[in-house]
Amino acid sequence: MQAIVLREYGPPENLKWETLPDPEPQKGEALLRVRAVSVDLFQMEFRSGRALQIPLPRIIGNGPAGEIARLGPEVSGFSVGQRVVVCNNISCGNCKYCRMGRETLCAGLNNHRGGMIGAHRDGGYAEFVAVPARNLLVMPEGVSFEQACLIPNTIGPVVKACSARARIRAGEDVLIIGAGGGMGLHAIQAARACGARVIAAIRSPRTAQACAASGADVVISTRDHDLAQEARRLTEGWGVDAVLDFVANRETLQASIAALAPGARLVIMGYFPRGGILETLTWPFTEEIEVTGNRSAGRQDIAQCLALIQNGRIAPVIGRTFALKDAVAAHKAFEAGEIVGRAVLVV
Ligand SMILES: [Zn+2]
Repeated sequence: MQAIVLREYGPPENLKWETLPDPEPQKGEALLRVRAVSVDLFQMEFRSGRALQIPLPRIIGNGPAGEIARLGPEVSGFSVGQRVVVCNNISCGNCKYCRMGRETLCAGLNNHRGGMIGAHRDGGYAEFVAVPARNLLVMPEGVSFEQACLIPNTIGPVVKACSARARIRAGEDVLIIGAGGGMGLHAIQAARACGARVIAAIRSPRTAQACAASGADVVISTRDHDLAQEARRLTEGWGVDAVLDFVANRETLQASIAALAPGARLVIMGYFPRGGILETLTWPFTEEIEVTGNRSAGRQDIAQCLALIQNGRIAPVIGRTFALKDAVAAHKAFEAGEIVGRAVLVV
């Protein structure tokens, strides 16, 4: 098969187009014929060596979508030809967190016994990948491979953040900071799907149109406005009921706290919120505010997203597609900030 292989951590050029033997599905695994795989922040962090230091070579790529090509031994409940999307996290299914339905906190993920497809074991930047059958979710009619591959790392985490972490209810006001990014544009849609009014905060006016197209009710530029003041002005002085902060630096975190209404929730977003320091007086906590984070998407979140896309509540924003062999160009475009929404590699 043809695949993109990373042999040394570094710049996009380190992604090499190579011919390798097809993988063999082991016990409990399925062989996936990959059709689409997303280009997002995790692959940039992994490729550069900033995320993890795992021995290479590795075929990178998280959450591919495709068709089941072959089933390994002891797999039931699936059949060859089914259209599926892959959950990244290899959770154990048995630990305290898996048992209580919070498999993204699985103890096996924390200590890398299970790990992530596309990091701890080969991923989806390839024509074929063998994955645990337990990680497969069958795609409904009306959802394309290109759309589905954006779920595991992008749409899934923001849907989970809105529903499980921020617990957004109909009629609430939600402030999204960094709304113009690949995750932010989908967060606007997810918050709207929960019934919220969405205030989208962006730095550059370049993404204002995309925010509006994703359903933002108000778009404000952080260059022109004091975020917290504007959030209070738009809510008759109360403040917003939830903030999703995708930027999460000292400045935005302070603005986030100041923008919260009594009883509101702040969710610190992103896989790699580096260097952010949350500085606050303790008095906001007497207003019963909650501060939390959000880690990846589990199978339940992915299933929820498949339904949201199928019924039209969320429309994946695919800015550009590339052929798999052009992964270097796709990574360069991502890092240059040229992609609106997400880029997809088509296999
Ligand atoms: Zn577990």
